Amino acid sequence: MEGKIELLWRGATVASCLIALAALRFSQQASRKQHQITRFGIARDLHAVLINDSARKARHRLGCLHWQNKSISGEGEERSEVMSAYFAMLWAFEHVASGRELLLKDSGNEPDAAVLFLDRMITVHVLEYICTFHEIKKKLTESDTSDEVFDGAYTESFVALREALRETADDPTRRKLENHTNNSESCRCACHRVTPRPADPPRYGAAA
Ligand SMILES: [Zn+2]
Ligand SMILES: [Zn+2]
Repeated sequence: MEGKIELLWRGATVASCLIALAALRFSQQASRKQHQITRFGIARDLHAVLINDSARKARHRLGCLHWQNKSISGEGEERSEVMSAYFAMLWAFEHVASGRELLLKDSGNEPDAAVLFLDRMITVHVLEYICTFHEIKKKLTESDTSDEVFDGAYTESFVALREALRETADDPTRRKLENHTNNSESCRCACHRVTPRPADPPRYGAAA
């Protein structure tokens, strides 16, 4: 009789262990899934920084000058407004770069699906701004040579992001990311084929 009870007790212990292990595995899978959902959410939020209202306004400000190859007036409000938009976008990319770095660290420095998703979403923006930043900085400098554009660390952050994207890009995109690495060269951007245009007449007291 005692032997039977012992066997029953052992059977019950094994069964409860199996149930506990199954529950643990289920909760680990659910937790992994939740973790991955969170990572995708972070990637989506990082991309949003490049398309929010502030980025839209800055892109319009910088893009018009870039694509039309137009000079910046050294008088009035224009230079200050362009400088503000220029740094706003450099800092937006810095924010994206630091977020991407954290995502990458969290996945053991291996680009997982969330990092690849982020890279796919932001690469087109980085490609556009490679030329934009070079050309706008040149125009800002030409518009007032006595007022240097101090953008060193922020530019380095953008360059580091561009380098990081090369790791996950396909071959044609990787080649584009290697274009126009400094201002001693140009790229295939259409702006280089546009005849330079003079600055608009200076405006004073305009809202930024
Ligand atoms: Zn270019
Ligand atoms: Zn360009």
